[in-house]
Amino acid sequence: MKVPPSRRFECSRCGYADYRMSAREIGSESPEHCLKCGALMRVADEGLPTDIERIVKEVAKRFEIEDFIATHERAEFEVFAPNVRKSFDSLLSVLRPRGYLVALRRGPDVLRLTVLRFSPVSRRSALISMLLFGLTVLSTFFAGVVFLFGNFLDAALFSIALMLILSAHELGHKMAAMEHGIDVSPPYFIPVPFFLGTLGAVMSIRSPPPSKDSLVEMGAAGPIAGFLVGLCMLLIGLAKSVPASAGEGIFFAPLAFVLLEFVFFGHPTSALRLHPLAFAGWVALFLTMFNLLPAGQLDGGHVARGLMSETRHYALTRSLGMALIMSGFVIPEFPFWVWGFLIFFVFRHYHPGALNEISSISRRTKWLVLTTAIVFVLSLPVPLR
Ligand SMILES: [Zn+2]
Ligand SMILES: [Zn+2]
Repeated sequence: MKVPPSRRFECSRCGYADYRMSAREIGSESPEHCLKCGALMRVADEGLPTDIERIVKEVAKRFEIEDFIATHERAEFEVFAPNVRKSFDSLLSVLRPRGYLVALRRGPDVLRLTVLRFSPVSRRSALISMLLFGLTVLSTFFAGVVFLFGNFLDAALFSIALMLILSAHELGHKMAAMEHGIDVSPPYFIPVPFFLGTLGAVMSIRSPPPSKDSLVEMGAAGPIAGFLVGLCMLLIGLAKSVPASAGEGIFFAPLAFVLLEFVFFGHPTSALRLHPLAFAGWVALFLTMFNLLPAGQLDGGHVARGLMSETRHYALTRSLGMALIMSGFVIPEFPFWVWGFLIFFVFRHYHPGALNEISSISRRTKWLVLTTAIVFVLSLPVPLR
């Protein structure tokens, strides 16, 4: 086992610092770039802090280290090993009890090993998450009985369908986060005693996404997963919906809903008594559209931030908020103006973005952005009357 020589690197422009494998002279300029702002870094000091040194030692026992960059939260290695699986499993078994996650990916011609510090989900936040889930099952059922359908069976169907859609959405985020070694909180569902019985769910990011690719993927995975399950509910639900008598029905619907009406009825119609599953799908697509607005820390905001700088994204957030508020004067029957106020007054800070702001997004991510844009358009509301 050999611990490679290492130095502390500092960015003279933004103050960001990390530890890298290097044997350069202290005080010299280096040809290495800052991960935050791209400026050149200075070699500031020798050696490693204890916590990082321990990790490097454990990795060096099992892998041949070609290169590494480390902070207290996260260390990225380029490695080789004769028996990758055995080395990886053994490293994980040592580091996990100390509060680290380990991920391994195949790079262009090396293996990339990521060691990430995570705060384990506390018993308390797990309990709160479960409690809120239970409450939201009840509140959506309650809303179904009292405000929407007036009977237990339809309310139960609505509640189950909506919870399935929202859970798929959260699971999408969670899986993307796990794939990229991003630490996220458990989902917190929001029960409300009125309206639909819920305002959806939230999940907070506890460690910054390493790359723009991972930021975009994490933002997009939730809405796409929720959209797909919502579409299934719409398919089943619309097949079971019946024409409504005069005065009943819906006055606007997401584009995908209207397109499906063509399939089922040959023409778009507002005079429809929606089956609970169709209504849950209608709600899901509506929430998807809101979530995909490219503003602030909304899911669409993460995607947009992966594509642009923090100042541009901030300008976009502010002007979109303002535009939505103004839409209240033109189309007050759509609640866009409510969201406009939310966006304008909640997102008043820059989106922090990814750790690596330099590398551009991959081809795969570009396709994902396109898919997300299609989902957004299919979820946009269309007036039916
Ligand atoms: Zn910098
Ligand atoms: Zn989401």
